[in-house]
Amino acid sequence: MKEKMVDDDDDDDDKTIDFINFNWEPNYGDDQHDVDHHHLSETLHRLAMVEKMSGMDDLHSIIQWIGSPLLCQLFEEKESNANLTEQSSIPEINEFSNVNSSDNYTCILCYIITLHQRINTVQNYMGTMAQCRGTGGDILREAGAISALLNVVWYLMLNSNDDDCSRLDFNCMCNDHLHLRKNDDSTSFDDIVTNVLQMTAIHLATSCLGSLRDLACGSALNRSAILIWTPPPSCSNVSCMIVNGVHLLCEYVARYDGYKFEDILSMKQGEFDTTRAAEATIDCLATYTDRGKKEIRMLTNVLGVVRNTSHSTPDVCQEMFKHGIVYRLVRLLLTSSSGSRNGQATTLLPDVSCPWREASFRTAGSLINLAEKCPDVASLLATNRQLILCLLEFWGGSTANVIDKFKTSSRALHLGLAAILNAAADGGLVGGLDEVMTCVLKNETIRRTGAQKREDERKRGQNSA
Ligand SMILES: [Zn+2]
Repeated sequence: MKEKMVDDDDDDDDKTIDFINFNWEPNYGDDQHDVDHHHLSETLHRLAMVEKMSGMDDLHSIIQWIGSPLLCQLFEEKESNANLTEQSSIPEINEFSNVNSSDNYTCILCYIITLHQRINTVQNYMGTMAQCRGTGGDILREAGAISALLNVVWYLMLNSNDDDCSRLDFNCMCNDHLHLRKNDDSTSFDDIVTNVLQMTAIHLATSCLGSLRDLACGSALNRSAILIWTPPPSCSNVSCMIVNGVHLLCEYVARYDGYKFEDILSMKQGEFDTTRAAEATIDCLATYTDRGKKEIRMLTNVLGVVRNTSHSTPDVCQEMFKHGIVYRLVRLLLTSSSGSRNGQATTLLPDVSCPWREASFRTAGSLINLAEKCPDVASLLATNRQLILCLLEFWGGSTANVIDKFKTSSRALHLGLAAILNAAADGGLVGGLDEVMTCVLKNETIRRTGAQKREDERKRGQNSA
């Protein structure tokens, strides 16, 4: 019933050619390090395709395997000091750093191969909208897919604030993979392996989040499954803050606190410090790094899950609000999309070629969804004039003369936007509504009255027939 009342329960992802054509793939070949990285990455990927996984012939056991602890958690050290609220840098999405390999031997290349195998399996079984929506989504949920995907995303976050990989022992390599190490320059090889490990971990998280995004689309039961998920037992302090799937999603957004989209895209390998990221943006504007492209893709997928999970789901919205996601989304949106046009401060809708356009739209969409089902969020968002204008721009889809666009639009105003505007009109916004906001609300009233009239006439016509 709840599902039928809304008309925008859809994954309105950007399908513009520019977005698809953006060169998301890493650019290799600039120096030998990149070439070696690419080569090793490809080799491990190939090995993951070849190595057979035994004992799995039905969907249930395949999904169980996807959600099982990663190699490292099997012999996890109990010494995490992770505290996500206190960090000043982006933590690694990679839980390998807590492994004391002298006590617990494992081959790091074998480990990367198992990550690749999970990526392949997630993509094969739940990598498309067709697999994740409708009946397919129900079957996957019943087989435990949502729980499995959240497990992986959670495992990857565990102990992830340690980007010092000094505890990795690169000498522990199995006989199968020993030949991949180059004898001439072991330091460089360690760098390359660390890099490949981090990139593969981000890739796996991105794949899992992409599937969760599609599973959450159009299914109240799947959204509910995300909310009621609880983390597997762990000693990590991170787990204290995360008691359900919604919290986990919020923490992935929190990972980018203090960053603009363009900062994230310019992030260099090994440079996760906020100040350095900011400097990098000034120094080499629009120099997007391979690491940055992977990060923005992951963030875009997280935001997709947040938007789809918050859709028409009050308990999820309440939980997201309580976990502080609203402030983070607002910051992300405003710092990344404010600018000036003709000397006037304004918000800027990223154009179709902009690689964070989709992330921006999903951020705005999440906020509007949250405001629709959570009056606290609507009141909060109503206090910020720049934000309201920004959300209107995003919803209207154009920066060009917003008033004219809304005057002629017959499209129903999103209930979340209506809630924000009404809260602003009720004294929430210092200085009251401006011309555009007043126009949008008035237009919506006219549209609703008209629609009601037509509906009444239709009913009268039916009765007299
Ligand atoms: Zn190995």
